[in-house]
Amino acid sequence: MDYPALELHIDGEWLGAGRRRTQRVVNPATGGSLGELPLVDAQDLERALQAAERAFTRWRRSSPEERSRVLKGAAQLIRERAGRIARIATMEEGKPLREARAETAMVANLFDFYAEECRRVYGRVLVRPTGTRSLVVKEPVGPVAAFAPWNFPVGNPGRKLGAPIAAGCPVILKPAEESPASAIEIVRSLIDAGLPGGVAQLVFGVPDEVSRHLLASPIIRKLSFTGSIAVGKHLLGLAAATVKRTTMELGGHAPVIVFDDADLDRAVEMLAAAKFRNAGQVCVSPTRFYVQQGVYERFVTAFAARALQIEVGDGLVERHHMGPMANPRRPQAMESFVSDALSHGAKLQTGGARQGKEGFFWQPTVLSDVPPHARIMREEPFGPVAVISPFATFEDAVEQANRLPYGLAAYAFTESAKRALLIGDALEAGMVAINAVMVAAPDAPFGGVKESGHGAEDGPEGLEACLVTKAIHQG
Ligand code: NAD
Repeated sequence: MDYPALELHIDGEWLGAGRRRTQRVVNPATGGSLGELPLVDAQDLERALQAAERAFTRWRRSSPEERSRVLKGAAQLIRERAGRIARIATMEEGKPLREARAETAMVANLFDFYAEECRRVYGRVLVRPTGTRSLVVKEPVGPVAAFAPWNFPVGNPGRKLGAPIAAGCPVILKPAEESPASAIEIVRSLIDAGLPGGVAQLVFGVPDEVSRHLLASPIIRKLSFTGSIAVGKHLLGLAAATVKRTTMELGGHAPVIVFDDADLDRAVEMLAAAKFRNAGQVCVSPTRFYVQQGVYERFVTAFAARALQIEVGDGLVERHHMGPMANPRRPQAMESFVSDALSHGAKLQTGGARQGKEGFFWQPTVLSDVPPHARIMREEPFGPVAVISPFATFEDAVEQANRLPYGLAAYAFTESAKRALLIGDALEAGMVAINAVMVAAPDAPFGGVKESGHGAEDGPEGLEACLVTKAIHQG
């Protein structure tokens, strides 16, 4: 299969490069070129804003039945096209096909969920003295500017579109320029399912130009961003000028606490699968492993042995468990994190180097005895590197887990029901998984606390985040 033509979608029209600047899209498994992506200019963005404003007038009045029909139709088309969409995602982002297929199914499920949930936008009636009432009603917040990163090229755009469309809001989506075709496929499925022009628009460009232009406009009423904390803070500043509603998903540095009563074999198996998924480029990736002293050596040995079994290579080859990293910045970052950790006394259990002559591959890596002052214990590594340290007591583990400004996901393994309850309460995170590694589901909120962000995506909470509340007092 050939990689598709890359286009923008503005004001109901698919637009090729024409007079526009372009940017090369690269296959991370080979470093070879996949295509040329058209980039918007100020005129395109102005057209998109005007179209979003017009689309809001139409879409805010659409019935839940119409929204539901479009979302269900798009979910159906995504399922029919899943094989093609997954291959595109693997070609441009690198993840193994089976992960890309699961991600595609997740978007179809999310659209199905919102196709139902949009029927459940309720208000309240406040009963006043005879002949008077007060009404509390929910309305769509308005046009959304959404920015999605490259690590889930299908899933992130799906998340940015599903809830706003269900709520009655148009979206101008700027996915990552490094993985554009997957996002194009998701928008195409919505348009093919009957979404009116201007409700979902797709722009690519120079990120700072696009975000400054869109966020300066009073037409945009909400910012939705997934990406790094640094960029998130910058965008929050831009959004503050016109006091926009915000949903910010800014990454994490997830602690994993393995108590000495855990089912160790099960924990190793689940955690290795989760750690090396998408080559560790996952905001909820388990990263700082704190393992209780009594089982520490056994855990380190078993986890490193499991990491060694992971077959790394081009994600298009079915037997590969882990693909390349998504861009050349990531293996460079891994080199710097690992050498810093080793210089602070960490022990390299396995991996620690690039792999192969072409593409952006990095070996599954396990570091043990990593001191808290090593850079990788403070900054999100966003790569296939697990760092393991011992702890003595419950209180030590909680203190270590909560010491960073991140608060997205956290994991714990214990066979004690009492400990499971206590650790669930003690961890400062938006999502906690106990004896489990899944933290995302269409019907559950996904989001962080502290500098990991605010506001949730998915679940009823994701819909609520696209609504404003109005009180109407009738005398
Ligand atoms: P980056 O911080 O430059 O970019 C992160 C994302 O933000 C990209 O999708 C990028 O296109 C977008 N972006 C950057 N500047 C922007 C701007 N001014 N306006 C709008 N969007 C902008 O870095 P990167 O090299 O792509 O990724 C590095 C780090 O970002 C990772 O180490 C990780 O910490 C974080 N990240 C987090 C997630 C997540 O799911 N939370 C996803 C991807 C990257």
